[in-house]
Amino acid sequence: MENCIFCKIIEGEVPAQVVYENEHVIAFNDINPVAPVHILIVPRLHIPSLNDVEPEHLEVMGHLMLAVKEIARQHEVAAKGYRLISNCGPDAGQVVYHIHFPLLGGRQFGHNLVRKS
Ligand code: 5GP
Ligand code: ZN
Repeated sequence: MENCIFCKIIEGEVPAQVVYENEHVIAFNDINPVAPVHILIVPRLHIPSLNDVEPEHLEVMGHLMLAVKEIARQHEVAAKGYRLISNCGPDAGQVVYHIHFPLLGGRQFGHNLVRKS
């Protein structure tokens, strides 16, 4: 998708610190981390947000969830715990309209909203 920063990362046109990838999914460090582990888990397919997920995306969404588990294990947060997010739409503050699942870990979050400190 033209003018999509995450599609450009997927195509290799924009650099990113890629930590995981397979046929369906790519994951890279967030450019502005708010936790010691802050990884964006993204389907290669351009789906704008959760509002746009359709039955035809079942397979890719399933691979995405398996990637979450594997990335948490690789970054040693699986046992201690981590938070998985997806901001959907303006009220959630979604900025990049290519669906992404930030995995946050390495510190405690409690039930507060995601903040820097
Ligand atoms: P959201 O759309 O859910 O509000 O957040 C988008 C996230 O993508 C933000 O956490 C932001 O820091 C991250 N981000 C935006 N542009 C880039 C980029 O070019 N590279 C990387 N690695 N992360 C980005
Ligand atoms: Zn895209």
